[in-house]
Amino acid sequence: MAVTYRIVVDPIACTGHGVCADLLPERIALDDWGYPIIDKRPLDGEVLRHARRTVTACPALALRLEEVGRDAANAR
Ligand code: SF4
Repeated sequence: MAVTYRIVVDPIACTGHGVCADLLPERIALDDWGYPIIDKRPLDGEVLRHARRTVTACPALALRLEEVGRDAANAR
């Protein structure tokens, strides 16, 4: 079963380090104050791999992956 995720930020925990935008520029930009603007499209493949690394690297532990769907067609 293929599981689809998106990346989400806890705005209370985020301290605006900006590391996330450096590691995942495909999905994260920074606003004028250095806080992330998240592209909420589903992640898969190589981008998902980069997203997992980005979640782990956030110094404030403000990022997480949220499951958004399962593709039962691939289930065996
Ligand atoms: S790396 Fe973490 S603390 Fe820094 S801007 Fe991104 S989400 Fe916020």
